[in-house]
Order: sequence, then structure tokens, then C-alpha cells
Amino acid sequence: RTVYVNGEYLPETEAKVSIFDRAFLMADGVYEVTSVLDGKLIDFAGHAKRLERSLNELDMRKPDCFDDLLEIHRELVRLNDIDEGLVYLQITRGAPGDRDFAFPPEDTAPTVVLFTQNKPGLADSPAAKTGMKIISVDDLRWGRRDIKTVQLLYPSLGKMMAKKAGADDAWMVQDGFVTEGTSNNAYFIKGNKIVTRALSNDILHGITRAAVLRFAREAQMEVEERNFTIAEAQAADEAFITSASAFVMPVVEIDGVALGDGTPGKRVARLREIYLDESRKAAV
Ligand code: PLP
Repeated sequence: RTVYVNGEYLPETEAKVSIFDRAFLMADGVYEVTSVLDGKLIDFAGHAKRLERSLNELDMRKPDCFDDLLEIHRELVRLNDIDEGLVYLQITRGAPGDRDFAFPPEDTAPTVVLFTQNKPGLADSPAAKTGMKIISVDDLRWGRRDIKTVQLLYPSLGKMMAKKAGADDAWMVQDGFVTEGTSNNAYFIKGNKIVTRALSNDILHGITRAAVLRFAREAQMEVEERNFTIAEAQAADEAFITSASAFVMPVVEIDGVALGDGTPGKRVARLREIYLDESRKAAV
């Protein structure tokens, strides 16, 4: 596999990052994951905009290659012959010569790393037909989840708690209300209405979330952005998650309680279809 590191396209075995890199020592880095369908990038503009916001919120310098990121994504997709898959992008505060809590000097170059993940059949995932089982866990993350940092230890622990419980993922709960999934936004549907938590510093502002809510409104569904509990989601007709890599994925069970008849519902299937169709049309 060919990867991109600080201006160079290299075989993955030759790519190097300093042991003093701030992301390695302090999780001082931000990232984006953009999916690839038909060899094209899904909602690249949305991801680039959120990346810029993450950098700004952390007073992190934009790398010199920022305006070339679309071309770099495309080149990696081409070099690795990706038809369906993902492009992972990470930018860190760079690698000063030592470990220090204070930020490095202004002129320290950010570290920029991109790699692809080949995932044939990504859009045709069997999970879309069977649905996901969810458990709830306490949300023990920091208070700026709107910034897409590489500080992913707690979401990783949450995913493992779900796996150990025989489930597929965990929804995190803060003060009695669902925030989001370990790597996705969370929703339920009751009647013609979709309910999902409103945007704030408590959740990541999903790029897929924005698109799906737009398509839902265009399809005359009602959208309510507000706090909700696990009990309310368990009593819903349908539930789902969204993310750049899972698109729209049905949820069929929450903390052992089956939703509806325990199989993926029609409305979620329709939303997934609309999302995939529209995203393919707009891909770059
Ligand atoms: N919430 C969290 C915590 C995430 O990590 C992600 C994606 O990785 C999402 C939501 C979904 O965001 P997006 O649709 O932009 O992939």
C-alpha cells in the first residue's frame, strides 16, 4: 500500500513519524475519515470544512498542503486502486525535539499522514440487512467531542465492552441522555419523526448526520433535534446510526430490548438508499 507522509508518497513500510510527535505522546492530533464509492470521495468538502474547524479550535497550524488535500486523497485512491473503501487523514501538532506540555514553537511543521483502506462491498454491508445490537455505557470522554481528535481510547474501550457483551457497538450516555455511538451519531424513529441529539460540544458534528437529516426533511420526514433516553429509543419503531464509513446502519436491539419486530425497519432502509444514491451522485 502506498501512503502519504509529509509531502511524500511512500510504501507503508518506509513511512516514518518521529517518536516525539505530539499525537504519539499526547493525542495532540485531529483526523478525518472519508469514504470512497466507485473510486470517488463522498462529501469531501464537508470533511475538509470540519477538519479546518478542528484545527482552528485547537490553535493548530494548517499544513502547507491543506489546499492540496483533495488532490492527495485522489492520488492515493488512484495509486491504491480503491473502488470502495476509506481514506484516513491525520494532522498533528508536529514533532518538536522533546516532550513538553507547552505547545512547540509556531514554526514547527504539522505532521500530515494519509492512508487508504480497501473495503470491497462497503456499500453492500451484510450488517445493513441484519441490523446492529447496541449496549449503553457511561460517556466518560472529555468535554470537546465536537473536535475530531485522535483521543479515542474511551470509544475503543466502549467498543470492546459492546463486543464482550455480544453486541456490535455502544451508545454513550451522559446525565441520562444518549450522546452518540463510539464512532457514529445515534437516532431513533417514532412514526414519521426522527429524533437525534442536537449539535453541541457534547457530540461530533457528523458529516453524514448533516446529509441524512437534509435528505430526511426533503423526504417529508419530521426531524427533532433534542436529548433522548435509552428507554425512549427502546420504545421506538426503528433506530439507526450514521457515519462516513457505515453510512446509515439499522439498530435492532438496545440493551437486550428488541425494537419493533427485531429486524431492520423500512424507514431506515429507505434513508440508507437515499443517502447512498445521493452521495454517489455528488461524489468527487
Ligand atoms: N460521532 C463520533 C464520536 C465519531 O467518531 C464519528 C465518526 O467517526 C461520528 C460521530 C460520525 O461522523 P461522520 O458522519 O462525519 O463520519
